[in-house]
Amino acid sequence: MASTAHAFRLSASPKPSAAAATAADAFLRPETLSFCSSAGGARLRRSGGACSLSVTAAGAAGLKVRASSATPVMDKSKSEAGPKAPTIVDVDLGDRSYPIYIGSGLLDQPELLQRHVHGKRVLVVTNDTVAPIYLDKVVDALTKGNPNVSVDHVILPDGEKYKDMDTLMKVFDKAIESRLDRRCTFVALGGGVIGDMCGYAAASFLRGVNFIQIPTTVMSQVDSSVGGKTGINHHLGKNLIGAFYQPQCVLIDTDTLNTLPDRELASGLAEVVKYGLIRDTEFFEWQEKNMDALIARDPSALAYAIKRSCENKAEVVSLDEKESGLRATLNLGHTFGHAIETGLGYGQWLHGEAVAAGIVMAVDMSYRLGWIDESIVTRVDKILKQAKLPTCPPETMTVEMFKSVMAVDKKVADGLLRLILLKGPLGNCVFTGDYDRKALDETLRAFVKS
Ligand code: NAD
Repeated sequence: MASTAHAFRLSASPKPSAAAATAADAFLRPETLSFCSSAGGARLRRSGGACSLSVTAAGAAGLKVRASSATPVMDKSKSEAGPKAPTIVDVDLGDRSYPIYIGSGLLDQPELLQRHVHGKRVLVVTNDTVAPIYLDKVVDALTKGNPNVSVDHVILPDGEKYKDMDTLMKVFDKAIESRLDRRCTFVALGGGVIGDMCGYAAASFLRGVNFIQIPTTVMSQVDSSVGGKTGINHHLGKNLIGAFYQPQCVLIDTDTLNTLPDRELASGLAEVVKYGLIRDTEFFEWQEKNMDALIARDPSALAYAIKRSCENKAEVVSLDEKESGLRATLNLGHTFGHAIETGLGYGQWLHGEAVAAGIVMAVDMSYRLGWIDESIVTRVDKILKQAKLPTCPPETMTVEMFKSVMAVDKKVADGLLRLILLKGPLGNCVFTGDYDRKALDETLRAFVKS
């Protein structure tokens, strides 16, 4: 890794309790949403409570998740001259549907971007690391053969610790000083921090303006740029302030990953592993064979991982845009992970690093509950280590730190902390508050000292 400001400890060895929940905690509400990997995609079951619901992705009303391309991303023969057609994954949300373009050299194809610009004014939101590398290229792509469009930009300080209200105000300052009106377009150029902030700014400036995502990290290309979750952090908890706001398109030029530091690349892979675990067994098995290629930046492996991740995310978002159930499963490991990010101070551990340790903790807890067998615990540990990601939280975290941050997690409902846990064979998970609290306590104690 390029830099390691943190030391990853060896994993605490899980000490499984007697399987299964006993007397449910009085605060636990016995409702569980379960999700299974299947040929048709996600299946969803609700148990306990009045609802009985079974949905298969293939059969869900009007669901279309397509990946299309004149030259598929895995096609190594596409090195011939001429612009390469992007792979396109559609996010199907009725009149808010949009394409995700994936491919190499897409920033050299101005028409892709320009067809999604509304009005004559564009504001590019980026940061002081990304701007020197890509801002000119993006301005060229927006203006080439398009003299009517004028582009302003705002360059924010780089870092998770600036994903806050003060920094967000700089975007509004620039937009207002530049007299942008409702017909303008905001363009997010950067990783997940910029994407989340620019999206939230677009959602609230003049009560909503057009918005395009140009993600430049693995994390943002496989996850954060898709699905319309935008927002900022509060010092008491991550992403607590925000809005659902969908972009007009997501343009993923995979060449931008060439300048991404190794540690950032690995961080994004945590979300890739997540998709395999919660809903895509075949993808997980592919990752087990190809993790070394991903870490070595094999372009074909990266392109495939990005496409498959976007397909998974697009499908989930199409079924549950506002997170009433299924979409929450994309947060496997995040409740533990957000506690690490908030507890340590934003930016100490990267988001994906915290998520990786969080996934190991969620998997450990699933095992203690008797919901998965040991082979899954071992495989998760192995693949995350292969991805050069941490498999346990930092030593400075305490049980109390975890509990206090987890108490304000967005998945708390009526005082009940709901978690995403694995249940059954690989590729199956549940979103539930119906678990034995003892297992949560045991997991926390197994991974932290005090
Ligand atoms: P980031 O945005 O901080 O980017 C990581 C680092 O890489 C930064 O220093 C950035 O300046 C730099 N960088 C970006 N692109 C680069 C490039 N091509 N070359 C060189 N350097 C580059 O972090 P991230 O991992 O991309 O995103 C993490 C954020 O995303 C977190 O705030 C997390 O909460 C959020 N997130 C949101 C969602 C969502 O659904 N909205 C999902 C996952 C994560």
